Amino acid sequence: MHKNSVIEINQEAHKRNIDFLQKVFGKKVMLSSVVKGNAYGHGLAEFVQMAFDNGIQHFSVFDVEEAKIVFDTLQNKVTILIMGFVADDDIEWVIQNQIEFFVFERYRLARAAKVAKRLQQKAILHIEVETGMHRTGFEMKNIARVAQFLVKEQKNIKFKGLCTHYAGAESISNYYRIATQIEKFNQAETIIKSYGITPEIKHSACSAAAMMFPETRMDLVRIGILQYGLWPSPEVFVTYLNTKKVKKDPLCRVISWKTEIMSIKRIKAGDFVGYGTSFMATDAMKIATIPLGYAHGYSRSLSNHGQVLVNGQRCRVIGTVNMNMLTVDVTEIDHVKKGDEVVLIGYQKESVITIASFSDYSNQLNYELLTRIAKTIPRKII
Ligand SMILES: *Cc1c(COP(=O)(O)O)cnc(C)c1O
Repeated sequence: MHKNSVIEINQEAHKRNIDFLQKVFGKKVMLSSVVKGNAYGHGLAEFVQMAFDNGIQHFSVFDVEEAKIVFDTLQNKVTILIMGFVADDDIEWVIQNQIEFFVFERYRLARAAKVAKRLQQKAILHIEVETGMHRTGFEMKNIARVAQFLVKEQKNIKFKGLCTHYAGAESISNYYRIATQIEKFNQAETIIKSYGITPEIKHSACSAAAMMFPETRMDLVRIGILQYGLWPSPEVFVTYLNTKKVKKDPLCRVISWKTEIMSIKRIKAGDFVGYGTSFMATDAMKIATIPLGYAHGYSRSLSNHGQVLVNGQRCRVIGTVNMNMLTVDVTEIDHVKKGDEVVLIGYQKESVITIASFSDYSNQLNYELLTRIAKTIPRKII
């Protein structure tokens, strides 16, 4: 087992986040916890068990592989919704286990109906409408045909949801595009209803849309980044704060990432550190090597820029981040020794390294940073 570092997942922080979100969205809106990308790096199996203990009843994943992990952990105590990829071979498993899934093309729709008929068990579908993201979704001109098919196949298909996804609700510069998408979604619903059928639920909002466009909340919101205690963008955060008197972040970061010093060295002025010449000491220095690198998800773009905490003080990454190691400047820290704790994300004494701070010294989005944290690192619920 990997012992170089450990990821801690804070159950209380997650509980506070979902309580806050449920209060903002209202009791009538179901909160689906989006756990694709290894639960945004938090560790899928560990995270969903914890989220379930915190009251979450609905999980959204990207593909069958993730759905299977959630299913193995929680069986049918929760609803599992696949928003993305289902291979042909997997449709049977999906239908048999009442896993719900997005359908965005005729082929999959026909296939689902056929397999459901053979299994004599209904496929539970969410029809995704193309409203302007131009990724997946039925085109508006095909919605009538889809509706006719659903009417014809009522014995084999349960029309559970009508849904769409917005193309960048976290930025106000996309305002017009999102507003147009909302309008199109409503048109699709009207067309479908004219065939005498209605979906059980409608849903469209991710974190940003749910905060910025309340009308997108509908019956269910698919919440990823916010439940992990992070804002989709600084703009969404500022927009939220502007509606409040108290200017305090209501969200708590759920993840922390810790490791320890592997070795310490003294170098003199003029010495280069690590591969190449990107860092040269201008004075005598004390440096510490840490057993983590880009293979574990600590991006190479943090070379000479990243910061970590040692003994409650900020230390800068110097030289290039290697595959399995990186080096930090601990010159200013007294009594530092091998085995001392190093914090990459989270608190140490009074100091903190936030996830947002990473985007200040590399061009990584918080989403990207989190999902790149290696799966092999043990996740511990605290
Ligand atoms: C990832 C994803 C979400 C959640 O996005 P957040 O910004 O993390 O809330 C919602 N819906 C779909 C279709 C997604 O792919």
